[in-house]
Amino acid sequence: MNILMIYPEYPDTYWSFSHALRFISKKVAVPPLGLLTISAMLPKNWNKKLIDMNMDKLKTVDLLWADYVFISAMHIQKESVDIVVKRCLAHQKKMVAGGPLFTQDYQNYPMIDHFVLNEAEITLPLFLKALENHEKLDKVYETKEFADLTQTPVPDYHLLSMKKYASMNLQVSRGCPYSCDFCEITTLLGHKVRMKDTQQIINELQALYDLNWRGAVSVVDDNFIGNRKQIKSELLPAMHNWMQAHKYPFVFNAQTSINIADDDILIKMMRDVGFKSIFIGIETVVEESLAECDKVQNRDRDLLQSVKKIQHNGMQVSGGFIVGFDNDQTNVFQRQIDFIQQSGIVAAMVGLLNAPKNTKLYERMKEENRLMLESSGNNTDFSMNFTPKMNKGDLLEGYNNIIKNIYSIKPFYKRIRQFLINFNATDMPSKRPEFSYILAFFKTIIIIGIYHRGWREYWKLLFWTLRKRPKLFMEAITFIVYGYHFRMVYGISR
Ligand code: SF4
Repeated sequence: MNILMIYPEYPDTYWSFSHALRFISKKVAVPPLGLLTISAMLPKNWNKKLIDMNMDKLKTVDLLWADYVFISAMHIQKESVDIVVKRCLAHQKKMVAGGPLFTQDYQNYPMIDHFVLNEAEITLPLFLKALENHEKLDKVYETKEFADLTQTPVPDYHLLSMKKYASMNLQVSRGCPYSCDFCEITTLLGHKVRMKDTQQIINELQALYDLNWRGAVSVVDDNFIGNRKQIKSELLPAMHNWMQAHKYPFVFNAQTSINIADDDILIKMMRDVGFKSIFIGIETVVEESLAECDKVQNRDRDLLQSVKKIQHNGMQVSGGFIVGFDNDQTNVFQRQIDFIQQSGIVAAMVGLLNAPKNTKLYERMKEENRLMLESSGNNTDFSMNFTPKMNKGDLLEGYNNIIKNIYSIKPFYKRIRQFLINFNATDMPSKRPEFSYILAFFKTIIIIGIYHRGWREYWKLLFWTLRKRPKLFMEAITFIVYGYHFRMVYGISR
């Protein structure tokens, strides 16, 4: 059986890092982990091929080769999905689809033959069994159960053109103990945090290592510290031993809740393993809006001090911010700008509030007759899918103002400097910078230091870093490149 796995293209967004990747000669930020995991669950004697359309063209010869085409996608990949589906139909290929887009909206795709939805550890074996027994295949395989991740195989990383990716990714757990009202994670994956066992993670690290991967590894969990007890007592000690024994081949990043700031031991353990940066959903500095969206873990705390504490203890913080809550007043825009600038969160992703399906917010908006359309899945495209309380024009103008303020050249470079002051990286495991990063530095000299409007700020920051924070030189370069990407994505020229 020949299985062609297709990962559709996603547009140029904050998260694509497309304009930054050219500096390190990479094509795509991270690989399609879901499809790699599906691949590992298929019978070993089947032939499999992966096309990541973010780097490869979908060739007719590959479609003709396939007995089945497996498609996995998120909402943001919708446009590319339509193209893939059309081409499969033109060649009368059988399609099997899964992933967040189809789990929520499979009814919009009647032309797709089969849907393997929710957690593939449960639904895929049902599809495979029917196929193997030559039974009539169902249109939809779905479940309300949550999978036991200790049965999940090591993803088929060997299918990747690894060198073209900036980072590999791995999944440790699914589910989140919190209940933020705009987030669909708990409906889709549950409140109970289900973890792979420690040996599985070590096997995944070993698989990446054996395939000669070195460098960044992103943990894709929605909240890496959701099961803090197991993380601290089992996983991090085992990862530490493995990293030490292999001379620290990887640098990790993850997403966590802000209350990591309250746990000095956990921060130290993560940093010692090689976690260099974390993404935190800060959302808003307005206490009433945090209460409104049920972000309990962010409430009644000094968010600024929490961020600074993490940075001071050796981990970079990037953050997600939202405007458009019912409790937001017109001063929210300046308050968010001030917080972002003071915190030294260089990679600050600010979005307008949206209500995805399967969230409490979606239900509330429906009840209040404020729902207008489905969420686009792109929280930086200036779209909202419900009517906000604040005047829509004022909200969009204020949002636009935040974007211009935080990504424009001067404030952006000022924020990098603030981060370099806050950050303390003294006792992290030290690594020689990769060649691609050294090359990236020389590219920044030409592209940003000579031909870009921000050349003056570029040189000022480089000399300042060399004088004041020389050990953080590569961090400064990395953030300069991020800034270039953000300005390109948002069309900001100054
Ligand atoms: S903490 Fe993050 S993953 Fe968990 S419910 Fe809130 S937004 Fe979702």
